[in-house]
Amino acid sequence: ERAANPLTFDGEGRLADGRRIPLRANIGSAADARAAAAAKAEGVGLFRTEFLFLDRADEPSVEEQTASYAEAFGAFAEVESPKIVVRTLDAGADKPLPFLTEAGEPNPALGVRGYRTRSRSLAVLTNQLEAISAAARQTGADVWVMAPMIATVEESEDFAALCAEAGLKHAGVMIEVPSAALRARSVLRSCEFASIGTNDLTQYTMAADRMLGALAELNDPWQPGVLALIRATAEGAAAAATDTGAPRSVGVCGEAAADPALAAVLVGLGVDSLSMTPRALPAVAAVLASVSTEEARTLAEVALESDTAAEARTAVRARLPILD
Ligand code: PEP
Ligand code: MG
Repeated sequence: ERAANPLTFDGEGRLADGRRIPLRANIGSAADARAAAAAKAEGVGLFRTEFLFLDRADEPSVEEQTASYAEAFGAFAEVESPKIVVRTLDAGADKPLPFLTEAGEPNPALGVRGYRTRSRSLAVLTNQLEAISAAARQTGADVWVMAPMIATVEESEDFAALCAEAGLKHAGVMIEVPSAALRARSVLRSCEFASIGTNDLTQYTMAADRMLGALAELNDPWQPGVLALIRATAEGAAAAATDTGAPRSVGVCGEAAADPALAAVLVGLGVDSLSMTPRALPAVAAVLASVSTEEARTLAEVALESDTAAEARTAVRARLPILD
């Protein structure tokens, strides 16, 4: 009956065969966190923390950061052990910060951005991790922390070590750079989860600036080359789980997760949770509830075997009667 009423989400994403696929929210502030909780999101899959840093001459203090993160974590107090995935500062490229990034890079999207700003100031990162850790202790929230723009195994190892030093139990990586997708098995040895940022992964796979409307056809997560990297990430994570004897979850937190038909394909490719803008939750939940694990796998094969993004989209949608 959920399919008949796509306007609500009951707070539990699942497939037709009952398999749980947690559906979480992307947020950028405490106000967003409250809206996500009201929409019954199963916690937060991407907390963009830039809001506190933008338009400032200096880094916010650890105390200010702690209070702000604690306010956001507290929004989910009524949900039992809500998982909250916090992304460390993703400065650079389209989000310059006077105290951290350098103006005038010839290719800012390929520059010192995301995790890479650690080389400019380790303290900005360790202070943020300290504040996230303190806010987690204060609120009792189940906090997982991930770094944006991880490209190599060394970066993943370094980030895991910094999180451990800050007393954070769960360190993860965003998969946004093709090298990290291709080497997911090794990248996920030290960090225990991956969240695929399909906005940047698409931009870097297709070599197409995500800000350029003229390149919208290339900047499409249905591109079979992008889907192949998502599959590679899921396979690498499964291998890393076997290697380490510990779970290695793989979520998607880019815009792709909010496209209901593509959400089913992502699950079929091996993704085990999705995070999106809260208003997309009902439609995504309805489509997932209409497909079994086997059917999602078939949809993934159909998409991967397509030659073009348009063909993949059309072929998958034709197999989802709920979208008629
Ligand atoms: C992404 O790249 O898909 C992502 C979720 O991060 P952002 O859009 O903030 O770069
Ligand atoms: Mg990104």
